[in-house]
Amino acid sequence: MEGYTESMAQLIDEFAKLPGIGKKSAERLAFHVLRVSKEEAMALAIAIRDMKRNVSPCSICFNIADTDPCNICSDPRRDQGLICVVEQPKDVIVLEKSAAYRGTYHVLMGCISPLEGHDPDSLTIPPLVERAKRGGVREVILATNPTHEGEETALYVAQALEPTGVSVTRIARGVPSGSYLEYASPAILTDAISGRQKLEQEG
Ligand code: ZN
Repeated sequence: MEGYTESMAQLIDEFAKLPGIGKKSAERLAFHVLRVSKEEAMALAIAIRDMKRNVSPCSICFNIADTDPCNICSDPRRDQGLICVVEQPKDVIVLEKSAAYRGTYHVLMGCISPLEGHDPDSLTIPPLVERAKRGGVREVILATNPTHEGEETALYVAQALEPTGVSVTRIARGVPSGSYLEYASPAILTDAISGRQKLEQEG
């Protein structure tokens, strides 16, 4: 990069890789880091390092966690017989904010989207089926997004769960169709969970 020292250019390059950050914003961020105290700049570097060191997926629900199993899977006050299936870790965060749900989760790590090259094998569906088979699970709530991909994914997961005999429900339609869970208000999510309905199986 013209005119920059090597280390400054490297930092700008790294910032520019972040989502939503263009070249101009990357330069502004790099100059900000240049201006702040060494302590403040190091706190950012250390926070990134520690997050990558400590956070890993829970081996039961695949939510991101500092411990394995995560604090939801290991909490005896949570209803371990209830599993809410979501697409992303950020969906767990929004559902937890609604405080209406006291069961456990299962994070699929995406949805089935042939256009983006996400097929069912790239999701955590087999471990979910294993959880249901192991017993102690009464109900699986499908809380994938009400988008086309989310609905397809819900149907696929429901079919995969069918042989286990576990009751499968879908969150109610309070969350607008085509929208994402993460943008729904806590009140809407509470209604969506409490109004869930048993999934109609075709055939
Ligand atoms: Zn967990």
